[in-house]
Amino acid sequence: MDLDAIRYNVDQLTRLAARTGAQTMAVIKADAYGHGALAVGNAALAAGASWLGVASVDEALALRGAGIQSRVFCWLHTVDDNFGPAVAAGIHLSVASLRQLWAVNSAARAVGVEAKVHLKIDTGLTRSGCQPAEWSALVEAAATAQAEGSLEVAGVWSHLACADEPGHPSVDRQAARLDDAYKVAANAGLNPIRHIANSAATLTRPDLHFDLVRPGIAVYGLNPVPGSATLRPAMSFRSTVSLARRVPAGEAVSYGHTWTTESETTLALVPVGYADGIPRTLSGRMEVWLGGRRRPVVGRVCMDQIVVDCGDDPITDGDEVLLFGPGDRGEPTAREWADTIGTIDYEIVTGMYRPRVSRSYVGGRR
Ligand SMILES: *Cc1c(COP(=O)(O)O)cnc(C)c1O
Repeated sequence: MDLDAIRYNVDQLTRLAARTGAQTMAVIKADAYGHGALAVGNAALAAGASWLGVASVDEALALRGAGIQSRVFCWLHTVDDNFGPAVAAGIHLSVASLRQLWAVNSAARAVGVEAKVHLKIDTGLTRSGCQPAEWSALVEAAATAQAEGSLEVAGVWSHLACADEPGHPSVDRQAARLDDAYKVAANAGLNPIRHIANSAATLTRPDLHFDLVRPGIAVYGLNPVPGSATLRPAMSFRSTVSLARRVPAGEAVSYGHTWTTESETTLALVPVGYADGIPRTLSGRMEVWLGGRRRPVVGRVCMDQIVVDCGDDPITDGDEVLLFGPGDRGEPTAREWADTIGTIDYEIVTGMYRPRVSRSYVGGRR
């Protein structure tokens, strides 16, 4: 993991946000999309982010437990979440319903700390948030609680469905609904910040930055709107050749015998497989960077290993294998894996969070 890349990306994003007067929340949910929440969080804060965003209360408390003191926001709750520790730790909490409002409010009373809540309006993603029809009631109840001193409505927010398709009509529709919702809150005497922009909107819709942008994937150098900015992918996935062997012509390779050597060749065994984050559906459709060039992975991707065809080149045990990286040398990228199997690079990098894959960091020093 290249923390200089994280810092470079966050620096780009905070500059973009600052042009519209917005602050930047680096989204580091799911252990920073598989990159390591603590390392990325610290790098992002050093590069100018002033908020960190995570999904769950547990993720937020883990950041506090590790000593992170910045503003932290979390938005995905379960009915048995105990909000007391989060309120006491000053975590900003999303509230999408009256039930959640009461839960946060009573936790705030119990711990004797004013809760910071961000009311979530569903503007059209239709996944979470308060329905527009119930918004006034939620705002009124929150305003009452704020007047009683148990909580502060610090934000009104929403999340976009199709920002990665610039020009998609839903984006403007969602922005208009956020505007309506914000007016209701302002009319109730509240003065919250407003936020809706994910990476794609941060990069392509400065008019939707409002007070705060919430980029996730762009922090990691993966661009949801290719061409909209120059970012540096932070994650590389490396292994080494565990065994290189000369194999005669006509030998079928690996489970199911899906590939057969045409002539005598060197096959390199690499000790990583689908248990280590390589999608099995890449079988027969992937290459690695090994010995100065790309080479095909042949046969099936197994649980723990893959086989690379190296022809007559002098590949030996211990040689470095780059499975994916930023692409600078011509090696495959996470995006290439995603495109090949019909998914998004978010899933590839997030899927690299495996206990057996050791993480190391370069860069990031001040
Ligand atoms: C994941 C997430 C983001 C970041 O989205 P990206 O597309 O990765 O930039 C922002 N806000 C919320 C609520 C999210 O869940």
